[in-house]
Amino acid sequence: MNIEQLKKIFDERYGSLPEAVYSSPGRVNLIGEHTDYNGGFVLPGAIDKGITLAFKVNEISKIRLYSVDYDESTEFGLAEADKPAQGWAKYVFGVIRELAKRGKTVSGFDAAFYGDVPLGAGLSSSAALESAFAFALNDVFALNVDSFELAKIGQATEHNYVGVKCGIMDQFASIFGKKGNLIRLDCRSLEYKYVPFNPVGYKVVLIDSCVKHELVNNPYNRRRESCETAAAAIRKRHPEVEFLRDASMDMLKEVKNEINDEDYMRAEFVIGEVKRLLDACDALEKDDYATVGKKMYETHEGLSKLYEVSCEELDFLNDCAKKYGVTGSRIMGGGFGGCTINLVEESKYDNFIAKTTVDYKTKFNIAPKVYDVVISDGARKAE
Ligand code: ADP
Ligand code: MG
Repeated sequence: MNIEQLKKIFDERYGSLPEAVYSSPGRVNLIGEHTDYNGGFVLPGAIDKGITLAFKVNEISKIRLYSVDYDESTEFGLAEADKPAQGWAKYVFGVIRELAKRGKTVSGFDAAFYGDVPLGAGLSSSAALESAFAFALNDVFALNVDSFELAKIGQATEHNYVGVKCGIMDQFASIFGKKGNLIRLDCRSLEYKYVPFNPVGYKVVLIDSCVKHELVNNPYNRRRESCETAAAAIRKRHPEVEFLRDASMDMLKEVKNEINDEDYMRAEFVIGEVKRLLDACDALEKDDYATVGKKMYETHEGLSKLYEVSCEELDFLNDCAKKYGVTGSRIMGGGFGGCTINLVEESKYDNFIAKTTVDYKTKFNIAPKVYDVVISDGARKAE
């Protein structure tokens, strides 16, 4: 699918050509996992895969949508009671309603869209969808919503219309993404800084384990509680420590006898991860990708051994990366399945992909999926 084909589809369906085309990407996170709820940093970047939508205001005070990928259409009104039935349409409806809650109203419109972010693989196709519509509506209706608020509107859509209690990283990266840059986002203050990312001679590739382990007893909540317990113990001696992000490894050691071993391990990972991310940013400023890669491997190790959110499949993929000379590799996302993100020299890429595909298939009888990504611009008007 390309923009010309999309415009043709739009024309056939709605009887005239669209007045504008917009695009917004998915994202990767190079390093900084489970740091967001500890007040720490993340380091996402927008990718060269996203949602593209063709748009035109209509005269019927209704929203008409067509999803090219699902070959499904829907029609709904602008009021809170008009929530559409289709899962994919709720993202668009949510954006419209969140705008309305902020006093920003739109009129009826027609839109057709397609995407090339793999769904549910951890690349945030949902943020791409929300951000594409938030950005488009803000532009077409001249709503004067700043970029930050656009990201928050996407996040609020997930919270209030989809039921996913996500952080702000995905929508933030989709809106603020910039070619040749990652974004170091401070999850406490929401301050951000672009960090150069020009890995000449390297590729970034995701290997999708294609597994998602069923989680019992909400392991994520338990980890959050461990982090809070450790932070509270440290805070008794160091009142300035609001989150683990503020703590040092020495501070953690002081409370070793006051918290249990599990809480200690979780905190050790988080404190290490905050430092690793900052070290990786320093290395990126110097184009030192060997160090960045080393930090990625350390993150994987921590996620696997200390935070215990890996699984056999992800550890296997990480071992393959080591075996085939990949510069850096780690689990991306919450864990227990999904993708590894790999920084690999171009000269080693073909061999890595070919061998890993065979090894993984042999071991688990699943063909892993491979997604090449290039760090790219955020939400934009494409035409
Ligand atoms: P992800 O990790 O990719 O964000 P989610 O489950 O949060 O996974 O979001 C995936 C959902 O977003 C899909 O089920 C669908 O409702 C919507 N979506 C994403 N991309 C598209 C697309 N190209 N066309 C239609 N709906 C899409
Ligand atoms: Mg999502």
